[in-house]
Amino acid sequence: ISLGIGFLIGILLVMGMQWLLSQNQTLEALIKQGLDKHEFKPFYQPIVHSKSGKIVGCEVLVRWVKKDGTIIPPYQFIPFAEDSGLILPITEQLLYRVVRDIQTLNWGDTDKFMSVNIVPEHLQNDDLFHTIESLKNDHWQYHNLSLEITERRKIEDLAQAKKTLEKFYDVGIELKLDDAGTGYGGFAYVQELKISTIKIDKMFIDVIGTDDMKNSVLSSIIAFANEASSMKTIAEGVETREQVELLAKHGVYKIQGYVYAKPMPIEELVEWKKIAKNLIAMASH
Ligand code: C2E
Ligand code: MG
Ligand code: MG
Ligand code: MG
Repeated sequence: ISLGIGFLIGILLVMGMQWLLSQNQTLEALIKQGLDKHEFKPFYQPIVHSKSGKIVGCEVLVRWVKKDGTIIPPYQFIPFAEDSGLILPITEQLLYRVVRDIQTLNWGDTDKFMSVNIVPEHLQNDDLFHTIESLKNDHWQYHNLSLEITERRKIEDLAQAKKTLEKFYDVGIELKLDDAGTGYGGFAYVQELKISTIKIDKMFIDVIGTDDMKNSVLSSIIAFANEASSMKTIAEGVETREQVELLAKHGVYKIQGYVYAKPMPIEELVEWKKIAKNLIAMASH
């Protein structure tokens, strides 16, 4: 009997794996169709300086917008897209729109930036740089773009990543460290990759004023950033005025979160900007 059960479990495992595989094959085919139809669109979430009330930039957050208007959030396809390499053409598709939207916003003669999420694979060759180079025109400057890389994923070839990044740095495109404090690459990346800004993860913002241990991680991140004099900080996932105030006390003024705005398409961002002054004043101290 036990042999029979073992056999049955074996069959079920194989079937399960095949099911998973077929699911991924379907997702792969669907993403490719979505790419053909240009369905991957950038949403923009403002990053606001809480003291001046000015927008310093936005994070670019991908949405898969179907023809019927259905919006598929990143968690449903980004992990697979990252593992399968499809994130590379998706990022390219986003960039076409991002540079056009920088023009729409007239950011070309400002210091404002659009911060694009990248994966370690983007740093393993010059493809991304060449894509961006090919999109360059007089209506925007390189420093209107920045890149952010999560410390959750490992960079296999750090030496190559450094080499690729030199090209970006030379023209003025900065690298930010995303999800700081949650992964393993963190402080090694900061030293090796000339990170300009660390984005403090929502996880640490959530526990402001509550959980001692995580607060101490938060303060050590902030202390680290302050010590390395050129290091800038952005707090991510900030939802309340209290959090804005507490972060300001710690010298963190660049705020990204629902307290100011959710990610939105370019048309909405253009409208939001018109009323932003009042909204920001209400949400700040
Ligand atoms: P992330 O890069 O850490 O982006 C921040 C996430 O936090 C976004 O989720 C944003 O909508 C959310 N968020 C911002 N403020 C708040 C807040 O106050 N409260 C709450 N509850 N959430 C807030 P989103 O847009 O769902 O993206 C999730 C993740 O998907 C991103 O995390 C990033 O890792 C990945 N992702 C998004 N777009 C891209 C992309 O174009 N390329 C790559 N490789 N990954 C992307
Ligand atoms: Mg990010
Ligand atoms: Mg983040
Ligand atoms: Mg995060």
